[in-house]
Amino acid sequence: MSRVYNFSAGPAVLPEEVLKEAAAEMLDYNGTGMSVMEMSHRSKAFEEIITTAEQDIRDLMNIPDNYRVLFLQGGASQQFAMIPMNLMKNRVADYIITGQWAKKAAKEAEKYGKVNRIASSEDKTFSYIPDCSDLPVSEDADYVYICENNTIYGTKFKELPNTKGKTLVADVSSCFLSEPVDVTKYGLIYGGVQKNIGPAGVVIVIIREDLITEDVLPGTPTMLTYKTHADAKSLYNTPPAYGIYICGKVFKWIKAMGGLEAMKERNEKKAKVLYDFLDQSKLFKGTVEKKDRSLMNVPFVTGDADLDAKFVKEAKAAGLENLKGHRTVGGMRASIYNAMPYEGVVALVDFMKKFEEENL
Ligand SMILES: *Cc1c(COP(=O)(O)O)cnc(C)c1O
Repeated sequence: MSRVYNFSAGPAVLPEEVLKEAAAEMLDYNGTGMSVMEMSHRSKAFEEIITTAEQDIRDLMNIPDNYRVLFLQGGASQQFAMIPMNLMKNRVADYIITGQWAKKAAKEAEKYGKVNRIASSEDKTFSYIPDCSDLPVSEDADYVYICENNTIYGTKFKELPNTKGKTLVADVSSCFLSEPVDVTKYGLIYGGVQKNIGPAGVVIVIIREDLITEDVLPGTPTMLTYKTHADAKSLYNTPPAYGIYICGKVFKWIKAMGGLEAMKERNEKKAKVLYDFLDQSKLFKGTVEKKDRSLMNVPFVTGDADLDAKFVKEAKAAGLENLKGHRTVGGMRASIYNAMPYEGVVALVDFMKKFEEENL
């Protein structure tokens, strides 16, 4: 068996310890004589898995009692519709456009009401986060929406926008559990888990209780109503059980690593190695404004598309996989999520140095 350093933006690298544990439990989970994939979601064993997973993410993020944690399906993209269906009481919402994911979310919300795009960084190919300290937040907005870490462009909100008292909704798919958060600043936090937490097929929604109501837009399906899942503790129907089990293992892994403070330190140390190299390189260049750089997704270019392609190909041959940039941006992107070891980033930088010497 040989494992590569996998820099994929998602689905992405998971902690090796977690994969090994899951492998060991594949045929017989904890003396049940069956795999978690094969057991009833109403069984005692699964109830313990989902209850423990919820408690662990609550501990990690310090989630207050007046917030609910929901394990749902449909990916992050389903939330683009579910959020307006449940929260757009006045049929007005403000969106801050910092990349493709926020753009898609805004477009979807337009099906349900008026969307005001109150800030955008599209003028410079989403290479920065706009100043959000004094935005024209709409008087009647039901919420202000952000994509907190922009997976494709490699930017991150270092400061949350001033929503002037309006509910903040955030897509944290690609920065989930990468550093401490103050949950009380948000009304709703959500993310697909396949970037930083687990296998595709689970989306975690952390929502303040007062936002969970029966008063949703007419025609909202039962399955797309937060209250359905909150009332049933994420067991209204069969949940993505195996995925939740893996998420639970990743929560335990993060706890064992020292929690979110330790994750942040580890992520900053990893990102620094790569950004420091980019800042002095004569061949490679980071594409993002320094102050807005993501700790998770690091896009870079040589400025020559053929050389970029050569780099990606040779890196793959050296065991450094999935470094090709998003199809809409080109160049390269290294996603260095929680589970990417420090050694992986060092190996990447060593390879970049060598490539630079050979191709400059
Ligand atoms: C990957 C990603 C999505 C889309 O996730 P799906 O689960 O494929 O729908 C949405 N937002 C962000 C920030 C992402 O990184």
